[in-house]
Amino acid sequence: MLAIFPYVRFQRQKQAVGEDLEKLKQRLSLLDYLQQQNWVVRPAGHGHEFVGLCPLHPETRPSFYVNARKNLFYCHGCGQGGDLLRFVQLSRQLSFRQSLAYLQQHSAPPADPAAVLEQAATFYQQQLDRYSEARFYLKQRGLYDPAAVQELHIGYAPGGSLRRHLTAQGYSCDRLQRLGLLNAQGCDAFYRRIIFPCCQDGHVINLYGRSTAAAFAHRFLPGSKGGLYAWGQVQQCPQVILVEGLFDYAVLWQAGFRHVVTCSFGTHLSTHQFQQLCDRPRTVYLTFDVDANGSGQQASQRLAQRLRAQGLATRRVLLPEGHDPNSFFVQGGDARQFQALLEAARP
Ligand SMILES: [Zn+2]
Repeated sequence: MLAIFPYVRFQRQKQAVGEDLEKLKQRLSLLDYLQQQNWVVRPAGHGHEFVGLCPLHPETRPSFYVNARKNLFYCHGCGQGGDLLRFVQLSRQLSFRQSLAYLQQHSAPPADPAAVLEQAATFYQQQLDRYSEARFYLKQRGLYDPAAVQELHIGYAPGGSLRRHLTAQGYSCDRLQRLGLLNAQGCDAFYRRIIFPCCQDGHVINLYGRSTAAAFAHRFLPGSKGGLYAWGQVQQCPQVILVEGLFDYAVLWQAGFRHVVTCSFGTHLSTHQFQQLCDRPRTVYLTFDVDANGSGQQASQRLAQRLRAQGLATRRVLLPEGHDPNSFFVQGGDARQFQALLEAARP
């Protein structure tokens, strides 16, 4: 009876190793590994076969074949063959377990959080074209130009597929949870949301998700949203248009206004964002919502005072009653009309 326990433990260990190996093979193919090791290759007739000089024995005529679909190799010269792990065992003279550990280390994804967020943003961008509800939502919000959507790296989180995508690349669920990409239950945190990546110094540091369904409209990942959105592109501009939200930003960008800036959401600028805006003399066109309760315009007035106190010039752009820049364009406003509003703006 007692003798069974070590056997069960051994079986479980074996199963765990098998799972590790499968995950590893999913994220690193034999062919990719060989090419990383500078294996020179040419297609061998049919689509999935490749041939080159054998890395395991000296030869002058290629006899080392790789089947990319089966993920297996065979050398007609030295008679060796097998999978990625077998190749590492033979080429590095390591044991099975040592080879597994070597490959796990070799294929580990980069540790820095920006790299994970970058992967997530790219994945979401790839999903955008696959979901008609996402394209429909963008059109409804006045974003109809595919080039603008691509330039702004806008994506779509359908929910339920990011976890699979990132764990297959070797990221642990724990890690993804800590970044907020997965919720406490381990499911995708962004579900049916249009995604805007927030970048700083060329790195993605947060993601904004706008719900296309019934969920709470605005959502960021935990942690810093960074400075003003896409500040790097307007930093040199003597005149900037400040708007409340990313959809305001996007429609203006699409209409050809490139000196637009936003704190990503709302009228409250962080200390850092305020300092960015004041880093040189410039004119700020405050283009906040004109809503019935007047909150957008009150915020606009207060911010204008603070900016003037720092020596900046300010203009308040008056959109028609009940509008923000997004709805202005959605309801037929065009670049010429918006330009007229900018010119009519008073301090
Ligand atoms: Zn060989």
